[in-house]
Amino acid sequence: MAPHRTERLDEYAAKRDFARTPEPSGGTPAPPTDQPRFVVQRHRARRLHYDFRLEMDGVLVSWAIPKGPSLDPSVKRLAVHVEDHPIEYFDFEGVIPRGEYGGGDVIVWDWGTYEAVHAPDPVRAVEQGELHVELHGQKLHGRFVMIRRGEDASGKEQWLVFHKRDEHAVAGWDAEDHPRSVRSGRTNDEVAANPDASWRSDAPAAVARVDFSSSRPDIAALDALGARGDWEFDGVTLKLTNLDKVLFPPREKGGEPLTKRDLVRWYATIAPVMLPYLEGRPLNMHRYPDGVDKPGFWHKEIPSHAPEWITRWHNDEADEGESEWYVVADRPATLAWLANFGAIELHAWTSCIPHVHEPTYALIDIDPGGDTSWDDVLTLTRLYRTALGHLHVFGAPKVTGQRGIQIWVPIEPGPSFDDTRAWVEAVSRAIGNTVPELVSWKWEKHARGGLARLDYTQNAINKTLVAPYSVRPAPGAPVSMPIRWDELDAPELRSDRWTIRDAGARVMEVGDLFHDVLTRKQRLPSLGDAAST
Ligand code: MN
Repeated sequence: MAPHRTERLDEYAAKRDFARTPEPSGGTPAPPTDQPRFVVQRHRARRLHYDFRLEMDGVLVSWAIPKGPSLDPSVKRLAVHVEDHPIEYFDFEGVIPRGEYGGGDVIVWDWGTYEAVHAPDPVRAVEQGELHVELHGQKLHGRFVMIRRGEDASGKEQWLVFHKRDEHAVAGWDAEDHPRSVRSGRTNDEVAANPDASWRSDAPAAVARVDFSSSRPDIAALDALGARGDWEFDGVTLKLTNLDKVLFPPREKGGEPLTKRDLVRWYATIAPVMLPYLEGRPLNMHRYPDGVDKPGFWHKEIPSHAPEWITRWHNDEADEGESEWYVVADRPATLAWLANFGAIELHAWTSCIPHVHEPTYALIDIDPGGDTSWDDVLTLTRLYRTALGHLHVFGAPKVTGQRGIQIWVPIEPGPSFDDTRAWVEAVSRAIGNTVPELVSWKWEKHARGGLARLDYTQNAINKTLVAPYSVRPAPGAPVSMPIRWDELDAPELRSDRWTIRDAGARVMEVGDLFHDVLTRKQRLPSLGDAAST
């Protein structure tokens, strides 16, 4: 019996850290889905190879062919049998972030349909180590034979693949002489230079593709709508309104303003990356329905007109007059709905449902004052980096999209907000004591004398910091973006360095840098005398 799809994909999942990667225009139409399909992806990872994949039993059964398949029947190529890939990967073309499993660039080098020859059950033929297929592709045609020859030292099955001598055979034919994608007409170099999609090899297949290409059918449909209309997205129909309303003025004089359509597009496309930071948590919305030039307001109660498919949570501890029902953002459609609702800034709680009194992060917030320079912010951030290093505590930095930097420290649930607040305060006081000229401990803004505040007070229930990948209410629509620690030394870094225009390209390039805050569980070490002096 062939294993079920989920079992078949276990190995695929095991290789990937499910919270970190991205990967899949003048091309040929995709093959029909009512016949078994094949795809060959040219993949420049650590080593160049061609991934030859046959759709069977609900997955893509796969071989890596270092030199690529050939139409020349005298050429026998090594093909290493690798783990099955999810069907969703079939037409992937784009980049897998550096540091991810398979990090590199991928094009759809060939695709089409195939017939298994003399094999009523191709899955069984693969198990038995010999498969004959007739390919109907754009580049590959005719009969190919695949034969298992043994295993390498690491236990990988080594196969040989070669073309039969038939009317499609071509002497001297080499894959490297045919370098362009059949999907987009692009080369690997062109895709790597300008990727519009990435594959999170560590994410479940349904959300693994982060796709900023305008050819994405659902996004193309959004762009085709008038000022209002019904939009099919993520399995629901959203009623979108005022799509051409300007929400963000341009940053530079003469620049293009950004509209509600742009906001919906951003949240719809970043959803696979952003949702892990929102799901399972109540959400506070910072709304600017008339644009960021007008005052915004906090909105916590889910409105009565919200569609019923939106997940919600009831706060049983709400006092009289306090919000009771909260949105829980757990699917792309919810993010698109929030954008249409004018919720520009999204703040998920620091704790998860139902244990809302147990924070999952200790939050460090470097909040610049009026006289705090960017260099001052960097100085303070570096001091935190040093302190966390001494304490052997992992923290992930992100720019806020305005002027500050935050550091999120993931913890094992258990401590109360009082505990995390006291810990962050103690570390912050130690840091403030080393640079008293930069920091004020005054509560009121006007009393701070333009100095920065190291704000530990947001470590409290129903107090929040802006979520990673959230848009900020400022001209140009800047985004709160995770960074690497070493980027503190990059001269071009600014808190508002990325906007919804270029944040997607950034995510394509570096993946989700915040990912470890989802998986690392730490106990905050006792600070003893170190921090109290
Ligand atoms: Mn590969």
